[in-house]
Amino acid sequence: MKKQMTLGDNKLNRGFTVAKVGLDKITAPFGEDREGCPHKGTDFGSSGKEKPFKAGVKGKVVEPLGGDWGTIAVKPAHDSTVTIQYLHCSSISVKVGAEVTKDTVLGKTGKKVPAGTDISGIHLHLQVFKNEAPDYACWGTGRNFIDPETWDTGD
Ligand SMILES: [Zn+2]
Repeated sequence: MKKQMTLGDNKLNRGFTVAKVGLDKITAPFGEDREGCPHKGTDFGSSGKEKPFKAGVKGKVVEPLGGDWGTIAVKPAHDSTVTIQYLHCSSISVKVGAEVTKDTVLGKTGKKVPAGTDISGIHLHLQVFKNEAPDYACWGTGRNFIDPETWDTGD
């Protein structure tokens, strides 16, 4: 049975927030319709400028790092069942294997995508996933995405 959520339930404030990543606002929520496919993460805006952002969670930097999507990946210390990815980074300040705290700056927001891919402008796309069958076929195979605003960052 699903747990009933009520106002004042701590879980409602346990996820990633604007304050935790140190950016300006949420520009697109998880699950928003993207041409028939739910958005896989939460977009955080930085007022159109490249801006440093924080991990928002304690963990370890894992692969992949960089690449066509400007990716930083972190395995949280308190929950090894999920991986967190920060996409579109214009610069990366950490290396694979680095231990990070919630206040560690990982890099700067950007608009890095593979050639030919559309992007709305500079922002951070933050996604949290488990290696399991996805809830939606359009998410591909092997990764099921969770709402970053409700996933418990563990502090
Ligand atoms: Zn996004």
